[in-house]
Amino acid sequence: MSEDCIFCSIVAGDIPNRTVYEDDEVLAFLDVNPLAEGHTLVIPKEHGEQVADLPEVAPTVFQRAAELTPAVRDAVDADGTTVAVNDGPAAGQEVPHLHVHIVPREEGDGAGM
Ligand code: 5GP
Ligand code: ZN
Repeated sequence: MSEDCIFCSIVAGDIPNRTVYEDDEVLAFLDVNPLAEGHTLVIPKEHGEQVADLPEVAPTVFQRAAELTPAVRDAVDADGTTVAVNDGPAAGQEVPHLHVHIVPREEGDGAGM
């Protein structure tokens, strides 16, 4: 847990979220400012900023994201998904707590990350 981390506050239950999935290591919830309906974020409960900071739990986060992707896609009847990590500020990461985006996509939606 990192003070001042918005995603740690979500894990702690101090900020409400719309949970999609939860286990001991991972939380998945809907993005508050979605690029598309169903846009989901998958995060480790442990705080770490980037993939390189979490060598043990990052693979679990990626695995859960892969497992959740078909359900996210089906929930909104999407044509496909963008599954992506902005790993570090240079890559456009705004929240400094590792997260995988699952963004439902439609043919020609122009919503590429
Ligand atoms: P990044 O640019 O860091 O890869 O993406 C951060 C994502 O977190 C953005 O899509 C943004 O909408 C989302 N986000 C930021 N703050 C909150 C929040 O308090 N709750 C939720 N559910 N999503 C958030
Ligand atoms: Zn955090």
